[in-house]
Amino acid sequence: MEKRINLLPAEGSWYKANLHCHTTVSDGRLTPEEVKKAYKEQGYQVVAFTDHKKYVQHLELSDSEFVALAGVEVDMNEIRPGKERIRTRMYHLNFYDTNPEEMPERKAQYCAADYWNHDSAYVNSYIKKMAKLGFIACYNHPYWSMHTVDEYLPLEGLFAMEIYNHGCELDGLYGYTPQAYEEMLRAGKKIFCLAADDNHNGYPFGHPLCDSFGGFTMICAEELTYGSIVRSLQEGSFYSSMGPEIRALYIENGNLIIKTSPVRKIYVNMRGKNCYKEVSREGDTLTEAKFALTGSEGYIRVTVKDSHARFANTNAYFLDTLPGFCG
Ligand SMILES: [Zn+2]
Ligand SMILES: [Zn+2]
Repeated sequence: MEKRINLLPAEGSWYKANLHCHTTVSDGRLTPEEVKKAYKEQGYQVVAFTDHKKYVQHLELSDSEFVALAGVEVDMNEIRPGKERIRTRMYHLNFYDTNPEEMPERKAQYCAADYWNHDSAYVNSYIKKMAKLGFIACYNHPYWSMHTVDEYLPLEGLFAMEIYNHGCELDGLYGYTPQAYEEMLRAGKKIFCLAADDNHNGYPFGHPLCDSFGGFTMICAEELTYGSIVRSLQEGSFYSSMGPEIRALYIENGNLIIKTSPVRKIYVNMRGKNCYKEVSREGDTLTEAKFALTGSEGYIRVTVKDSHARFANTNAYFLDTLPGFCG
């Protein structure tokens, strides 16, 4: 009998994370302390502080129930003389610090990229430079950035990209970008996908345009410590969501098993056009699906959609490099 291959870990604890957040350190309205308080009240255990072009650690906010990840959002913009900046294309990348103890002052200095250099070769060299300092890079909100595939396919050295950005969704329905993720995967990029708020909190909590608590990443880690959370991010031990939960994901006896909170649809996308699916009747829900894998899927990634039209997405799993999988 084939051993069970857990795509999402079956052991460890799950932590709710917002991996994209702005505070009064840049253009957000809440202080880092207010962000921590609000997110803790909503059941989050992890927030990555990613203020624009300012790398400021908030390690003092970490305690036994909360981890404050140190990060920064860097932007590199197209030069369009005479045009509004908002109409130009821009690379926004989140950098998460894997080792905040090391060289914090040097990191703060290096976080200022060339603001007017919208060139993928330059962006790649910048990602490399940041990697040397211990940062992992995530490519943010491609649709809001007015990007086409030409702009994001050349990117190298990313560990992840955003598949959902809640602030961008509220801004112009620019938030959900599964196609961009698919295009990266089809081009052979083995990267993960995140969902995050990108909250600036220009509207109060409870307001329909409040940009908090709409996109989150569920991280499975050994313990709630900085090192353990970062390791899980690097290993891809997480999935992203706007609401639904993915409670189990594994392969057993050649079958892919998916267990979820109540949802309307469970879909499995892969390299080709074939797609496995289970859909409930109107007014009904599903919490489980089982699909026989042929071994020729290339990669698989699961999307579920609930009755409020909220999605959850897993990372892509490449079957040819999956330990223990023999198709
Ligand atoms: Zn951004
Ligand atoms: Zn942002």
